[in-house]
Amino acid sequence: MFRGLRGGRLNLAISIGNWRLRPGQAAAGALDDVPVDQWPRLAARWLRAGFGSESLRQLARLRSGETGAALVLMPQALRSIGFDPAAADGEFAARCQAALDIVQRDLDVTGYGRYRMRAYLARGWPSAVFAALPDGSYWSGAWDMTRRMDDASLLFNAAGSVSGTLKEVHEIDWPVCAIHGGHPETSIWDGGEPVGLTDGVVWWRCTRAGHPLAPVGQLTAKTAKTP
Ligand SMILES: [Zn+2]
Repeated sequence: MFRGLRGGRLNLAISIGNWRLRPGQAAAGALDDVPVDQWPRLAARWLRAGFGSESLRQLARLRSGETGAALVLMPQALRSIGFDPAAADGEFAARCQAALDIVQRDLDVTGYGRYRMRAYLARGWPSAVFAALPDGSYWSGAWDMTRRMDDASLLFNAAGSVSGTLKEVHEIDWPVCAIHGGHPETSIWDGGEPVGLTDGVVWWRCTRAGHPLAPVGQLTAKTAKTP
């Protein structure tokens, strides 16, 4: 019900034009629906609507191609006129952390518990969260968690992000099927996707033979190899 409502609001926002977005809606996460190159025009509208600050004026003066500057200026501009996006971002990151915590159980039971996964909000558009290690390293090549995702999609990407970050940062192939995985002559860079989504359930997959291993959160040291 709640998800459907969100989806409906999203479609409505597109059909009536994102230029009607108010600062409060923007700070609450609706900026994800407005491409960054339109942010200066949005700022200009807010100025005409009576909001005013130096950073808002700077944002309004940017050309549409200056997306890097717009990404930096927008949070400042919103805060300067009394709307702080940190709360919505914090809520979104917490949702992603809850998904990562489910994946963490699988790391713990398969002997990889020393890798503690943290939700990292990357700067960009739309807002995206990745699984990061405590030292701040992470991989952003795929598996981004975004605000509009339902819980299953979020968990799907959380699992993929954990697997991708371990692989790209530490060259660790995880999880590995206890039956088909771990052959010394097989490169960790070959093989299929580690995660699948079937009937709304997120599964770990055997990257060698393609069969399902276990639902994410229910992996065991029997189905996956331990170090
Ligand atoms: Zn297998």
